[in-house]
Amino acid sequence: MVVIRGATTINEDTPDEIRAAVKELLEQIELRNMIARDEIVSIVFSSTSDIHSYYPAKAAREAGFEGASLFSAQEPEIDGSLKLCIRTMLFVEKNIQPKHLYLRGAKVLRKDIAEKINVAIDGPAGSGKSTIAKALANDYKILYLDTGAMYRACALKALEKGIDLSSECEVEELIRHLTLEVKYEEGTQKTYLDGADVSDKIRTPEISMAASTVSRYPFVRLKMAEKQREIASGISCVLDGRDIGTFVLPTADFKFFLTASPEVRAERRKRELESKGYTVDFEQLKEEIVRRDQQDMNRAIAPLKQAEDAILIDTSAMTIEEVLQAIKKKIQEKI
Ligand code: C5P
Repeated sequence: MVVIRGATTINEDTPDEIRAAVKELLEQIELRNMIARDEIVSIVFSSTSDIHSYYPAKAAREAGFEGASLFSAQEPEIDGSLKLCIRTMLFVEKNIQPKHLYLRGAKVLRKDIAEKINVAIDGPAGSGKSTIAKALANDYKILYLDTGAMYRACALKALEKGIDLSSECEVEELIRHLTLEVKYEEGTQKTYLDGADVSDKIRTPEISMAASTVSRYPFVRLKMAEKQREIASGISCVLDGRDIGTFVLPTADFKFFLTASPEVRAERRKRELESKGYTVDFEQLKEEIVRRDQQDMNRAIAPLKQAEDAILIDTSAMTIEEVLQAIKKKIQEKI
């Protein structure tokens, strides 16, 4: 006897969606494991607590899985769990190496056996990229890489060394010898510069502007992009930045471009900075954001730009939760 595991997700809690998803999941499991229907002894289902409209076991019965004993149960509501998910366990009278199967949005549950997914989230400052990217990575239990932190660390080093930021040569020389590391401590990204944790120090408006200046230089960009690709290679991850979908990971599976009005973005940044104890002037912050956008959009190499195949989301009038759900819906539709 072997036990085969599987899971899938639906987009909406309707009987038709449940019927289609259960049929697809069971038929795919049969196919991949080359099992005959009469070898299936029993099929157990559990579904997340947001599924009410139909029993997966009934859907299995209707799909022709009649010989096996069938059972459905509902899972408790778990914070942060995958939404609208149906899990299954098949008990099969056969001696094989089981091939478990995770379809649609449920692929993220078993990153060890599912294909890896890369999500690129680009957009201007304050568009909500990092909040959304972090939440998405946390929900999917995959890696989050804040690429802006890397340019910020470069800028910090240049400012600390008193380098003239308008001198490409001087910046290049400095970055050539820079030791920049990204580490994950208790699930949070930490940026280390020459061995010291600079994660908080790089969050000032002065560093934001300086990061935009040094990130114009091809040497800096190529070095950072190489590091970003290295970190992202071979694992599922969410990267946020300005050029992820166009330059760093042009073949990313999912690309989103977030935007919002300059007023909304400046307001968000103001709140963020104030929560960290900084006093900021709204008009000045807005002006800096617009200036930074201009600089990021007009540089020669890998400028801030929406990739042709990216989905544009204007987050001006949306809550974080709404943006997150919109992105997850798009991902689950496509997986
Ligand atoms: O996203 P964040 O505000 O931390 O980025 C700081 C600056 O770093 C941006 O204004 C941009 O100039 C640069 N950056 C970039 N490419 C990225 C991420 C950030 O050029 N992928």
